[in-house]
Amino acid sequence: MSQNYVESSFNQSDAPFEVPLRPQNLNEFIGQVDIKDRLEVFLGAAKQRKETLGHCLLSGPPGLGKTTLAQIIAKTMNKNCIVTSGPVLEKAADLAGILTNLQEGDVLFIDEIHRLNRQVEEYLYPAMEDFVLDLMIDSGPSARSVQVKLNPFTMVGASTRVGLLSAPMRSRFAITCRLDYYQPSVLQEIVLRAARILNLNLDTESALEIAARSRGTPRIANHLLKWVRDFAQMKNRPQIDKELAQDALTMLAIDNKGLDELDKKILEVIIDYYDGGPVGINTIAVAVGEESHTLEEVYEPFLIMQGFLKRTPRGREATPLAYEQLGKKYLKKME
Ligand code: ADP
Repeated sequence: MSQNYVESSFNQSDAPFEVPLRPQNLNEFIGQVDIKDRLEVFLGAAKQRKETLGHCLLSGPPGLGKTTLAQIIAKTMNKNCIVTSGPVLEKAADLAGILTNLQEGDVLFIDEIHRLNRQVEEYLYPAMEDFVLDLMIDSGPSARSVQVKLNPFTMVGASTRVGLLSAPMRSRFAITCRLDYYQPSVLQEIVLRAARILNLNLDTESALEIAARSRGTPRIANHLLKWVRDFAQMKNRPQIDKELAQDALTMLAIDNKGLDELDKKILEVIIDYYDGGPVGINTIAVAVGEESHTLEEVYEPFLIMQGFLKRTPRGREATPLAYEQLGKKYLKKME
């Protein structure tokens, strides 16, 4: 089976490292048990009936396994996986080119589907629903529309911000799976699996140490594992134990709760400059030198989930836990 990659913007940077670690089937995919169970039924039934699988929507923060699942879906169905992303499909013609080249049952993976522009999105509706494409030929008085028949295909959409998807788009997916951050014990298994693949001598305690600092995210766990490997190699220590892992991670300024420098900076800005908040996301973004949508999609969900940050109608607030984590004194404000 061939794997086609039309485009894979966010994967390009880590592709050479990540590919060998990427689980190839549902058994190798660790955690997210409910989603795996659901997909097993969904894929198994379509396979038995020899039908094209319905469209799936995968949502959740970056690095939790959406691309991996899309590729597993294609592999399980023995079909090609064509990868693209919302911001790359600028014009309807870009989409038409991809859709008309799909073979029966192929999986079209559109990452960041919430960033598709409206015009392209509207072209997708008939393609998803009836596997036809309405194309405009010519312009001006001789303009006419022709309908092109497409091979039935499966669309797998991925989004870090599913709330931004339009209702008509959302309703065209047969199933929606929301990936959640992984518990440290599950990430520990992921680290141990990756260590086996990379031929590393790493004990379970150091795997847990790495897992606990990975923000519940397998991609980060894999990156940290590789950092620990580099560190051990330069220290000439073939055996990786907890202490060595801790030393390596301390060098990256990742604390015991997995907060990195930017997480800490965000909380510091709220606490030190704005008296704990509330403060608007755009102000925080300017103060830390990041895009506000990156803060909203990547940093904020983890800080909120860990109880360091609160989202209120007037802006973001640091919680007493955030003060404690940064070693700052929390003074209860008068309302
Ligand atoms: P996303 O598309 O959600 O940003 P990816 O599917 O690219 O995330 O996953 C990032 C990396 O994390 C993958 O290359 C894979 O190695 C690893 N990974 C993700 N989920 C799992 C899992 N459940 N078990 C093992 N490794 C995983």
